[in-house]
Amino acid sequence: MSKTDLAYKRILLKLSGESLAGTDGQGVSQRILEYFAHEIKKVYDLSVELAIVIGGGNFFRGLSNAAQDMNRVTADQMGMLATMINSLALMDILKRNGIKAQTFSAISMTKVADVFDHVKVSDCLKDGNIAILGGGTGNPFFTTDTAAVLRAIEINADVILKGTRVDGVYSADPEEVTNAIKYDSLSYMEVVEQKLKVMDITAITLAMDNKLPIIVFNFDKTDNLKKVVLGESIGTKVQE
Ligand code: UDP
Repeated sequence: MSKTDLAYKRILLKLSGESLAGTDGQGVSQRILEYFAHEIKKVYDLSVELAIVIGGGNFFRGLSNAAQDMNRVTADQMGMLATMINSLALMDILKRNGIKAQTFSAISMTKVADVFDHVKVSDCLKDGNIAILGGGTGNPFFTTDTAAVLRAIEINADVILKGTRVDGVYSADPEEVTNAIKYDSLSYMEVVEQKLKVMDITAITLAMDNKLPIIVFNFDKTDNLKKVVLGESIGTKVQE
């Protein structure tokens, strides 16, 4: 397998924080972390350049009930710090599995991680490391989906892969509506006009403005990440 067999050379993988949580929906499950590392190792071994953005919803969300009476900026800052906890947990499991990985933070915390810098991240990727980009955008009122699109554009990624627990984008929530239709491909405008649940509108329009393709796929199915990287058409592709 050579680099030329890859459908994408530089990828940004977005994972939700919630997907890391154990059965109670909270915290970090070591079993799930092991699964993540196992799946990521398969593409690491293909020498693909991989950056990862992980959410923080398993710990805190600025718009959650727990934050109801809080100042929104403070609540969002807590959410952004939550993404750093997940980023560090992910870096740790990757390293324990023999993968070179480095965490960058949107928020300065010099003893914990380097501050995000697109040149440093590009160099880190070229050196064969996985770059984990934590702290969201560093700004309140955004989501990690938007952070993922922003970072993908900044580092010139070929595609953004959004790992979920369903097979792609559906006409309705497939976990609630049995006859929901799965789309193989969609335009950005179809996603916006039909209010399809791919990413929030800010993230979608940023991707559209910068012609960044998005592939939504089921990360819970073993080998799926590798299949996408090798160009197999699974999931739903959103592009122009
Ligand atoms: N957040 C933020 N700015 C960002 C990214 C995230 O303020 O650029 C905060 C926001 O409060 C959000 C929380 O961090 O609710 C966790 O991120 P998100 O909900 O996107 O995580 P996920 O749903 O992917 O686990």
